[in-house]
Amino acid sequence: MGIVVENVSKQFGSFQAVEQVSLEINSGSLVALLGPSGSGKSTLLRLISGLEMPDSGKIILTGKDATYQSVQERNIGFVFQHYALFKHLTVRQNIAFGLEIRKAPKKKIQGKVEQLLELVQLNGLGDRYPSQLSGGQRQRVALARALAVEPNVLLLDEPFGALDAKVRKDLRAWLRRLHDEVHVTTVFVTHDQEEAMEVADEIVVMNKGKVEQVGTPAEIYDHPASAFVMSFIGPVN
Ligand code: ADP
Ligand code: MG
Repeated sequence: MGIVVENVSKQFGSFQAVEQVSLEINSGSLVALLGPSGSGKSTLLRLISGLEMPDSGKIILTGKDATYQSVQERNIGFVFQHYALFKHLTVRQNIAFGLEIRKAPKKKIQGKVEQLLELVQLNGLGDRYPSQLSGGQRQRVALARALAVEPNVLLLDEPFGALDAKVRKDLRAWLRRLHDEVHVTTVFVTHDQEEAMEVADEIVVMNKGKVEQVGTPAEIYDHPASAFVMSFIGPVN
């Protein structure tokens, strides 16, 4: 079982950021939350992660009611648009961070870090500092760091949003390959329809805090459920 969102709502002041959202995300799938700016994507992701509490509704993770669990209890890996790597730590130390604070055995940490460096194709760069890496490399470190603790769920909020078009395109393909290897349930936020189409198994289209449609890229492209989806997804303009 993956993620179940049941009738979740979240208001900020009088503004309804997420309204009565229900959603099922299969275990091991790679799902995109797609919608225009302000449609509630980040808020929904934060609700799934436990960084934000819903006003009403439930979040169920791997079959367990997680609505009132902390981020740590949910065992979530998180990557944001603006990489928050520790500047004073090397790539290796950044990746090891979550395992160090969990007091994992030294040997296990070392092995895991080397395995992750290989997975994100940063072999040889382990002793560099974040300032000595490109933007794309930094996001790969952030992903490795998120994966180090073997999260139940990986949540990515516009992970490639700050990068230039060419790097973004490479990272998309790379995220797809990574996911095919690791199979961790992954939800990523994007406002880029092409990115969602290319990478995701399933797309959740959001508009004004609500889910407009859920489907595979082909289903959504061929059978848009509303005029909004059609205008947002439709033939690339
Ligand atoms: P998206 O990620 O799709 O751009 P968000 O979920 O970030 O949308 O935001 C949806 C709306 O909720 C935005 O209009 C934003 O101003 C508002 N919002 C989000 N977080 C907060 C907050 N912590 N306090 C007040 N308003 C917020
Ligand atoms: Mg956002």
